[in-house]
Amino acid sequence: TVVDVDKVLDGLNRVQREAVTSDAEVLQILAPPGSGKTRTLTSRVAWLLANGMNPSNIIVATFTNKASKEMKERISKMIGGGLENKLIIGTFHSIATRYLRKYGHLIGIPGGFGIADTSDSSNIISRIIKKHKYSTMDGNDAGGVKWRISNLKSKMQSVDVYIASQKKNNHNEEFSKIYEQYEKELKNSNLLDFDDLLLRCLDLLRAHPLCVSNIQAVLIDEFQDTNLVQFDLMCLFASRRNKITIVGDPDQSIYGFRAAEIGNLSTMQEVYPNTIVINLEENYRSSAAILNCSLEVIQQDKARPQKGITPTHELGISPVLRQLPSPGDEARWMTQEVLRLRAVTGNLFTFDDIAVLVRSASLAREIETQMSQKRIPYRLIAGIKFFERAEVKPVLDYLRVILDPNNSEALLRILNTPRRGLGDKAFRELSAMAEKKDTSIWNIVQKAARGDLSIAGISNPGKVGLSKFVKVIRDTQNALKSEESEDPETIGKIIKLLLEKIDYKVYVGEKLQGELEDRWQHVEEFITQAVEFCGNVAAGIDEVDLPDTEAVGEAIEESKLVAALGKFLANAALASVKEGPEESGDGSGTGVLTISTIHNAKGLEWPIVFIPGCYTGSIPHSRSEDHDEERRLLYVAMTRAQVLLYLSYPLHLWDRKSGSSQGSNLCSFLADDEIDRLVVKQGPTMDLEKIQSFSNIMSRKCPTREMVQATINAAGLQILDDWVESDDPTRGSEESEGRQYSSQSQYAARVGYQ
Ligand code: ATP
Ligand code: MG
Repeated sequence: TVVDVDKVLDGLNRVQREAVTSDAEVLQILAPPGSGKTRTLTSRVAWLLANGMNPSNIIVATFTNKASKEMKERISKMIGGGLENKLIIGTFHSIATRYLRKYGHLIGIPGGFGIADTSDSSNIISRIIKKHKYSTMDGNDAGGVKWRISNLKSKMQSVDVYIASQKKNNHNEEFSKIYEQYEKELKNSNLLDFDDLLLRCLDLLRAHPLCVSNIQAVLIDEFQDTNLVQFDLMCLFASRRNKITIVGDPDQSIYGFRAAEIGNLSTMQEVYPNTIVINLEENYRSSAAILNCSLEVIQQDKARPQKGITPTHELGISPVLRQLPSPGDEARWMTQEVLRLRAVTGNLFTFDDIAVLVRSASLAREIETQMSQKRIPYRLIAGIKFFERAEVKPVLDYLRVILDPNNSEALLRILNTPRRGLGDKAFRELSAMAEKKDTSIWNIVQKAARGDLSIAGISNPGKVGLSKFVKVIRDTQNALKSEESEDPETIGKIIKLLLEKIDYKVYVGEKLQGELEDRWQHVEEFITQAVEFCGNVAAGIDEVDLPDTEAVGEAIEESKLVAALGKFLANAALASVKEGPEESGDGSGTGVLTISTIHNAKGLEWPIVFIPGCYTGSIPHSRSEDHDEERRLLYVAMTRAQVLLYLSYPLHLWDRKSGSSQGSNLCSFLADDEIDRLVVKQGPTMDLEKIQSFSNIMSRKCPTREMVQATINAAGLQILDDWVESDDPTRGSEESEGRQYSSQSQYAARVGYQ
């Protein structure tokens, strides 16, 4: 209807509208950060829906699950009617998972397959290395091997292809063997790793293109970071109609280290000669000052085609480039600056408006310490994922085993958690026995529990423990299967009963460090999430079944609860790649500050952004071989900022190995005369006008002029940066600068800092 269409196009500029309503079959929207690519893509989906396209015939691939959730919310606001819930939307991994669940049996993948998450993959590889006593000398440590395997798979080098190529060259025997056995272990445990999800989906769609015969349109965000497998998936998804829209920005390609293929952009134009390219040139996100400075960085790449980008906001406040004596000072300065800004602007913004973006997760520790000391609520997007927590992971593993006891990875982790009197020897013998009899560990466990099989390494208490374990698993399986009600609350009850039976709370209290109450809260949060998720599945909001297509599918017989739980577990495994659940604020209305890696901040924006650790070795990272990619990474980080951008670096780093401090250099991308002219070294000064423009950009808050005036009066315009080194001996961490300088004045002289 006319009303819907108006709403979809509302607030878009001319070129964006053109892109949204384009009749082009294949469309590439290539544009710089903040130009509204994601917004345009979202509107195009809404446009297709408003024009009558069936949502279950549209595939939308986003970079994170969170991004798809946001996209769905926006589409819902534009057109409503719950259509957004029927879209096939998610990351490539989650879309592939859904296809494999529905049609995997066509290529011999049982519907109940589990997903090997990062820790599963590492565990399998470590076990293989240990068992065969492989030398880890030439990079064959579990992490390195996992990374190599993943890279090979992303380049479609399956184990057979790889081994064939290695045989020819006759080298790297050991790695080939690990790769081969890793694949075998996955298969035996009925697991697919993240790369398999994509590769096997590719196999499926090649063999059975009818599975996607209903697809009318394919839309992809952040296309510059897709790999070869994802590109082929895109072509297969679209094979019926060839109607594709991608948005991307070559300047923001930052996943080359994980085999993302920037060449996909031009390959696409070759594969689809009718591709129409649209460029968006206006930036709606950042102040001109931030934009100019970011452009200065990206333009250092001389090979890059020069492109226009026009700011729509006024100059605003110059970015700050700050040198601090040490990482401890840097973290302390940031927290003080955060509090100071809030004070001088009269709490114009909340902690939600602030992000600290770090090159590597390890840089976050010092910052966390300071934030907690100053009681600034924060969420860490770089740290341990919720589902990986020591108290949550076993619960997840129990459920995985209950749904599929052949999942030996999960089984091995919970067999003795909580303690059941099984030692290393018992584990070794169980595995060896399973291998000898060519059966699953679960089968051996059942036999040993019954006493049909005596295993020397298992004591009598161990045997009792095993039979209790088998009974708990079986009982829970039966409870789930026989459950007639579809009420998701039942899932919660079943999980709680399971945890009671295994005395899980006692285990958490005794075996895990830290506050029991905190940990137990996470367990309860997990149960709440499971119930909520299964409720959403039942209500048709999440993970709606793929529509039936011309491909023949034998329906998998599962109870509704089992099916919903299966979807929840898959979701949990995939969520742990990049994001945990939303953590909420402390309820005080001040919001939560975000600490994130730059990689995870892609596509997002905040009014205030801090980028600490801008020194050579951190960015560009000492282990990175691709400096252009590192520069793009800094560019991505800088272009997240809307109003205020803080770059900083410590002059001295504490070197653990030598036990002394070492000098560091400003990141080479920022050590540039042009940039020097564009930044200031002090904190920003803020006069009435600047605060006004500040609040304009953050228009959702938009205080009145009077309010801003009152604020400034109250603050007495005392808003110059007045951060000074404190003498508080408790500050900073153990690596703090205290040891690095013999006296305060010495270091003050050294950094020319008053
Ligand atoms: P990135 O490359 O970082 O992913 P992007 O190109 O996807 O950026 P968006 O996130 O879609 O950019 O948009 C950036 C900001 O600009 C958002 O806050 C969006 O709402 C706003 N925006 C986009 N288009 C317009 C417009 N025509 N008028 C006003 N604001 C806009
Ligand atoms: Mg975007």
